[in-house]
Amino acid sequence: MTDCLFCRMVAGEIPADVVHETERIFAFRDINPQAPTHVLVIPKEHHPTAAALAAADPTLLGEVVAAAHAVALQEGLATGDGAEPGYRLVTNTGPQAGQTVHHVHLHVLGGRPMGWPPG
Ligand code: 5GP
Ligand code: ZN
Repeated sequence: MTDCLFCRMVAGEIPADVVHETERIFAFRDINPQAPTHVLVIPKEHHPTAAALAAADPTLLGEVVAAAHAVALQEGLATGDGAEPGYRLVTNTGPQAGQTVHHVHLHVLGGRPMGWPPG
């Protein structure tokens, strides 16, 4: 029994609107979407931050990024031979960035124009 929300979603203890899954990756819609497409892509294994995952298993970090692109393709945010109309990947680390769940996740955001800087 873990108190990590995303580990509990991977385990099926908390429901998730799953859009993509592999042996090592899990992707589901954010409960509080900030764009028409807002999907969270996570490794099933628990790592607290992107940097921790990069240090522990860089191959798995690459799989998370590849899965995010697979989601973007599926959602019509990218095409097989290009990146149109496009999407944004965000990973928050620490309180000032707004990290609230300490299981590394990529936010896949798209479906509307996004400003820069993000604010
Ligand atoms: P963070 O702020 O850590 O970068 O992102 C955590 C994200 O998890 C937030 O966008 C938040 O809306 C989402 N979230 C929090 N609780 C749940 C939940 O129970 N289900 C889903 N699908 N998303 C959640
Ligand atoms: Zn976890």
